[in-house]
Amino acid sequence: MDELTLFSLALGLAKPWQVADLKFSKEEGRLDLRIDFVKGAKFPCPSCKETQESEVHDTLDRTWRHLNFFQYETYLHARVPRIRCGKCGVKQVDVPWARPGSGFTLLFELLVLSLSREMSVAAVAELTSEHANRLWRILKHYVERARREVDLRTFHKLGIDEFAIRKGHVYMTSFGDLEASRVIFLGEGRKKGVVKAFLEDLQSRGVDPGQIDVVCCDMWDPYLNGIGTFLRKALVVFDRFHVMNQLNKALEMVRREEQRDNEALTKSRFLWLKNPKNLTDNQEARLEALKRLDLRTARAYQIKLALARFWEISDPAEAVSYLKRWYFWATHSRLQPVIQAAQTIKRYWKGVVGFLDARVTNGMVEGLNSKIKTAMKRAYGFKHVGYLRTIIYLVAGRLTFTYPQ
Ligand SMILES: [Zn+2]
Repeated sequence: MDELTLFSLALGLAKPWQVADLKFSKEEGRLDLRIDFVKGAKFPCPSCKETQESEVHDTLDRTWRHLNFFQYETYLHARVPRIRCGKCGVKQVDVPWARPGSGFTLLFELLVLSLSREMSVAAVAELTSEHANRLWRILKHYVERARREVDLRTFHKLGIDEFAIRKGHVYMTSFGDLEASRVIFLGEGRKKGVVKAFLEDLQSRGVDPGQIDVVCCDMWDPYLNGIGTFLRKALVVFDRFHVMNQLNKALEMVRREEQRDNEALTKSRFLWLKNPKNLTDNQEARLEALKRLDLRTARAYQIKLALARFWEISDPAEAVSYLKRWYFWATHSRLQPVIQAAQTIKRYWKGVVGFLDARVTNGMVEGLNSKIKTAMKRAYGFKHVGYLRTIIYLVAGRLTFTYPQ
């Protein structure tokens, strides 16, 4: 077997394609393979797939980046035939190693996809010596295609959440299948219209929005208005993270106010906001000392911790009566921000206690959020909305990529 035949086999080429020539340059660190079709070969039309094969009309020279041959960058070159189809006119034929219009082979594209699921796109660009923008285009193509193929027939618990994409209040909204732990749609902004955009996307995929029976989201009126208009039958519930956030905001307001005449509170913000389990020994000691002072912040903190216990109670009736007692305590705290937060919870009471019956767990909500965070890290340095969308679907969309042939 000669080396050209060996490379033809390694590339999986079949008639009429074969490796016709190769050039290896150690100095340039590259291997160039010229692929050609055998003389007199005929090709089917790429548009109408007419079984009648046509003779070659003319050819166009093309180049594709392929997987490295050891440390050597490898390129395929071919003169790609154009045929004259009786129905469609002059058409460039499809080659088996690349998709139409791509400057990469299918195997190279799959490598980029696999790597991007595990590392940042910047790192993949570095590793392959390719410009990141070209890699983003590959990802976008496969992600969009795989997303259309996701099976949403059993989807019925929707999670809606906002996230900031850069400083200055630029937001996106994620829509997730809570049971499958998968992001299914990303919309721009966090207004009512984003809910409509989501439903239009669902319908374009043949999914009936009526199959959604539970929506878990923040106490954010634009979302709630959108749900009220477009998903009237769904039960709306609020998860622990978003309810606790109300108390965390109130606590921070109390602390900031009190800090003005009590220096002991300076730079203590995160001590009060962090989960007590995650504090270092030093931080814990400082917090304990602060708690011994007669501080309004310390009282607000106790009320916050008490609210967290609501989600630890397994019996729903007991949990509801606990929340009522908590509400009484919070509204009698004489801490204005805390009273306001408690009143917000009262206003959305049905959805707060409804969370217990909706069989949505905090784990489901947090699982999706942490996937989005991971995806944002993969896109580090690329803040374009289109890129973020692609990488979040890739990391958090539970997509399946089939071999593209
Ligand atoms: Zn045709």
